[in-house]
Amino acid sequence: MSLENNFEKLLNDLFPLPRSLTGNGNRQTLDIIKKIIPLKIVEYPSGQKVFDWTIPKEWNVKDAWIKDSSGKKIIDYSESNIHLVGYSAPITGKFRFKDIKDKIYYLEDQPEAIPYRTTYYKEDWGFCVTKKQYDLLSKDSGDLELLIDSEFKKDGSMTIGEILIKGKSSKEILVSTYICHPSLANDNLSGIVLTTYLAKLLLSKTDLNYSWRFIFVPETIGAIAYCANNKDIMEKIDTALVVTTVGGPGKFGYKQSFNGSHYINELIEKTFENMDIKYETYPFDIHGSDERQYSSIGFRINTASVTKDKYYEYKYYHNSLDNLDFVKASYLEESYNVYCNLINEIDNTTIFKTNNPNCEVMLSKHLIYPELGGTISPNKFTFSKLDIRLWLLFYLDGKKNLVEISKIMDIEFNIIYEECLFLEKNKIISRIA
Ligand code: ZN
Repeated sequence: MSLENNFEKLLNDLFPLPRSLTGNGNRQTLDIIKKIIPLKIVEYPSGQKVFDWTIPKEWNVKDAWIKDSSGKKIIDYSESNIHLVGYSAPITGKFRFKDIKDKIYYLEDQPEAIPYRTTYYKEDWGFCVTKKQYDLLSKDSGDLELLIDSEFKKDGSMTIGEILIKGKSSKEILVSTYICHPSLANDNLSGIVLTTYLAKLLLSKTDLNYSWRFIFVPETIGAIAYCANNKDIMEKIDTALVVTTVGGPGKFGYKQSFNGSHYINELIEKTFENMDIKYETYPFDIHGSDERQYSSIGFRINTASVTKDKYYEYKYYHNSLDNLDFVKASYLEESYNVYCNLINEIDNTTIFKTNNPNCEVMLSKHLIYPELGGTISPNKFTFSKLDIRLWLLFYLDGKKNLVEISKIMDIEFNIIYEECLFLEKNKIISRIA
């Protein structure tokens, strides 16, 4: 099957599932992904304290509907899971429209669309409907019957998936995507599908430099819980990508990490430029997705996102028209190609470490002079070559990679890379990644 067909199939398989912060829809989603990549599925118990947050009770829905006064179903959860406000509490009974109209949401400016709403941390309930459905209900002067057959499980849990693909270095790159949105395609089914196939690609590689960790977590609370439960892992992470909204027909873009001059941003721009793709740059902002958690003071991981029709920016954001007519496997494939090239760039940002961190190395002993037997000539070329080596020995602490060092030294990457190869060959420095 072609990659496009694989994307198509996974999009279709996962689209209808009732994902949320917790619940069986998330488990089904991860179980399907597990057939493609050997995902480790982890359950964090409801009620667990994770930094300033608490993992909520597990929520599952059996059924939900509103019938008009003649008994005809007007709103039906089984037709679209976003009809129900996420985390709605159970309720059943007969109501006059005027008494429940504050619980019914629609979009005035997009009458065909069902909005997406949640009430995760305040016990409440509600329905989301099209303008047409709203009008039908509002014109009914009789009793409307409604049912929300949902359950908050006492000893439930929140499900996440992860996979670590080991490279030569124990330093890791994190690729994070979120799994809490129900039937919405660009935000963020597209990210789930893309992340799955990126992991599958890296699993087939035997020569990775970095170790690559992929996680599938509910947005915000899932990322927070992951950080809280894996502090040791978070320390190994060099940089991160949050994969979101990558399947729309619109423009490419990228959200910068908090340090605009960090190498991740440079590599993303380089990737777009090499592929001759026009793109939008979105500076770092405290709003957005799970980069909010990874960038927080306690972790400070530079985290960026490459997007195609970025969240907040497209018309169907958080409504039912963000569906599989809007997102196409072919758009996803375009994003996949960008991410593949970017991963390649990141994985090749080599890190070296000096073998002699204590004081200077003895130059003559290590043949570090540019010309054997020669003197340091005032000739600019020779002098600068030695200088480059000395500065490299000053900077190669095993933490900064060569992209960063080339930036600090303001010398082209290729030049310093070549000098590093020389130093490596003479056993003055060693490769970490
Ligand atoms: Zn969203």
